[in-house]
Amino acid sequence: MTTFVPYQPKYSLSQKIRRATTLVSASSRAIWKLLREGKGFAASVEVTDRCNAGCHYCYVYPSTWNQNQRMAGYSQLTKHEQKQPKQHIFGVLKELKESGIVHVTLVGGEPALAPKVLRYAADNFPIVWVVTNGAAKLPYLPTSATIFVSIDGPPDIHNQSRDPGGFFENHQFKNLTGMSAAIVKNINESERGAFVHMTLTPPNIKRFGETIDWLVRDIAKLRGIVVSGTTATSPQDPFAFTLEERQLLKKAIEAKAEQYGWRLFPFNQPKVNQFLFEPEHIIKDFTECPIALRIESLGFDGKSVGKCILRDDSDCSTCVCNMTGLQKAIETIDFPTIVNTIPTLFG
Ligand code: SF4
Ligand code: SF4
Repeated sequence: MTTFVPYQPKYSLSQKIRRATTLVSASSRAIWKLLREGKGFAASVEVTDRCNAGCHYCYVYPSTWNQNQRMAGYSQLTKHEQKQPKQHIFGVLKELKESGIVHVTLVGGEPALAPKVLRYAADNFPIVWVVTNGAAKLPYLPTSATIFVSIDGPPDIHNQSRDPGGFFENHQFKNLTGMSAAIVKNINESERGAFVHMTLTPPNIKRFGETIDWLVRDIAKLRGIVVSGTTATSPQDPFAFTLEERQLLKKAIEAKAEQYGWRLFPFNQPKVNQFLFEPEHIIKDFTECPIALRIESLGFDGKSVGKCILRDDSDCSTCVCNMTGLQKAIETIDFPTIVNTIPTLFG
């Protein structure tokens, strides 16, 4: 066994005390909001519609949009029209803050393409998770912000599925090329490192082990790995997990946890995996989903994008999104999950 030791950003004692005080105050405001209004205290916000990747499974863009069109985003609009959504997103965040939201997850498009919005959110919310494809450098952000970089599989799979237009083909880092090289370089050169969020399709389960070995070996500032499976629009979709494939992925995580230790998988502690992969916990529709019930999902125009960021046409019975299992484990006060979630609150 080669025990994995998560990269921990450096905090002085006074910084730790300040951060802990902020988190205690945020938790009490969140509990108060929950008790008073019966509403959740978190929101997921798409901070830009621009993206430098070209994922074929993207739920944000029409599948007919190529990587160039995704990259263009607002700039396809007139100068005046471009200004409106950009200004609007600040208003959306301001309203969320005033309504008592304490935890925002910033998604895109690609959030790194909206650095001013990231900075504004990190200055105004106590807990900010930035979900990025990691290919562009992120701006320096305060300790309220924690970075999650999305990975689809080993470098060849990742480059293929996320960068079909070859935008990053000239990037090189150590023995890596393409988008995966850019990602590893950006994380290793960042000040506080990142968590990796891996989303696997059923055919890629067989490459799970080598993906984990790659990430542990090459990312010096790796803080942990979060594992999800794809969510499809129907059980007949080739990307929909069967019951057997759920079990395969669960076993693959357990095997790697045995090799590196469970700290490698802070959001996939055994209780989370039970909720995520066991047939009796499959969510039939959004009324059973703790994410849909407690987290607002907004587009860059401030309007709801649907029951969750995966949009209304995703089929809940196929959903293998880690956040559903994590939320259930936290709600059942699973001690290992709560303990392993704490480092993600220290960005
Ligand atoms: S990184 Fe996200 S927003 Fe960009 S193309 Fe891929 S799935 Fe879509
Ligand atoms: S698709 Fe997944 S996250 Fe979205 S509402 Fe359904 S179960 Fe919840």
